[in-house]
Amino acid sequence: MNLLDRMSEHDYEQVLFALDDPSGLKAIIAIHDTTLGPAMGGVRFKAYATEEEALKDVLQLSRAMTLKASAAGLNLGGGQAVILADSAAGKSEALLRAFGRQIQALSGRLFVAEDLGTTVEDMETIQQETEYVAGLRKSRGGSGEPSLKAAYGVIRGIGACLLHVHGDPGLRGRVLAIQGVGAVGREIARQASEEGARVIVADKDPRRIDDLKKHFEVQVVSPDHILETECDVFCPCALGGVLSETTVPRLRAKIVAGAANNQLVDENAGKLLFERGIIYAPDFVISAGGLINVAEELTGYDENLATLRVGKLYQRIEAILKVSEERKIPTHLAAAQMALERLELMRKVRRTYVPNASSLDR
Ligand code: NAD
Repeated sequence: MNLLDRMSEHDYEQVLFALDDPSGLKAIIAIHDTTLGPAMGGVRFKAYATEEEALKDVLQLSRAMTLKASAAGLNLGGGQAVILADSAAGKSEALLRAFGRQIQALSGRLFVAEDLGTTVEDMETIQQETEYVAGLRKSRGGSGEPSLKAAYGVIRGIGACLLHVHGDPGLRGRVLAIQGVGAVGREIARQASEEGARVIVADKDPRRIDDLKKHFEVQVVSPDHILETECDVFCPCALGGVLSETTVPRLRAKIVAGAANNQLVDENAGKLLFERGIIYAPDFVISAGGLINVAEELTGYDENLATLRVGKLYQRIEAILKVSEERKIPTHLAAAQMALERLELMRKVRRTYVPNASSLDR
């Protein structure tokens, strides 16, 4: 299928191919949908095997971002940029600044933030050419480390799931099994322990476990056994693809709620969770704390406001569980339907011309 047909199939607004020979920049930038506000997206720096692979990535990620932002209640659209690198060593100041000029030329239709292969330092280099960068250090007026807010969002989402299952959102006395205690998982372990939960952890990297044990009490199981650990909440915080037709039957938890992206291998995994009566907090909603935090930069970062807004993931998950029950559909489908319904409604609301209406007003 040619590119315009692919764009038309899923309603993409704009796909831009950017080239700058002197710096070696080769990039593809996609803006999927800006109904809700300016697009937000990551900058992925990767040595793609083919141009087609890069295009597929940028199209898929920008569309996923539209859904994620809408589901999180943000006034942001979906975008993504990929820089096609020849090698990791190919990254240079000139290349990043050439990329920044491309973003500036979009006049605020797309804000970019760190993603796989890019760092906060890279964002600062890009910022030299464009004001449309997010995810900066606090000392630069940014929102700082996103994983802390991502973890807080997951804790709030777990609360909503516990309320649904037990009629009480409290973590005290509940058992949480966390798969992967990196930046987000570790912080979830800390916050859950503080709230009185019993925490069981597994990580492939023993250094992560040793570090955790220095700070608070956790029970450790091997990564091979965390799935079938007896617990109230299974909390995936490692890699994606952890929930499949083979792994879901092994789960002993009533709730699956964690930060990892793309937890479901396929639609069937989500269906199976639903059929087994396991409450699954859709990953693209419960993990949105980092995104909500970064989005605050666009209107002038205020830490208290960011925490408040991330905390509202509790109500979002609560609403999704309710819709899933009412419509008798798996939670990930309920969340996607709700996100698309919000987009549709806002398309209708925004038909009328209003002078100086800010797309970021809430
Ligand atoms: P991280 O790399 O800091 O931590 C991941 C941890 O998982 C590591 O300690 C790793 O050793 C461990 N791990 C890997 N495979 C494992 C396995 N099979 N069993 C047990 N442990 C395993 O990553 P992170 O930033 O904490 O992110 C974790 C997940 O959450 C990712 O899927 C990420 O995309 C998602 N996420 C992160 C953020 C954020 O702000 N960092 C926000 C939203 C979502």
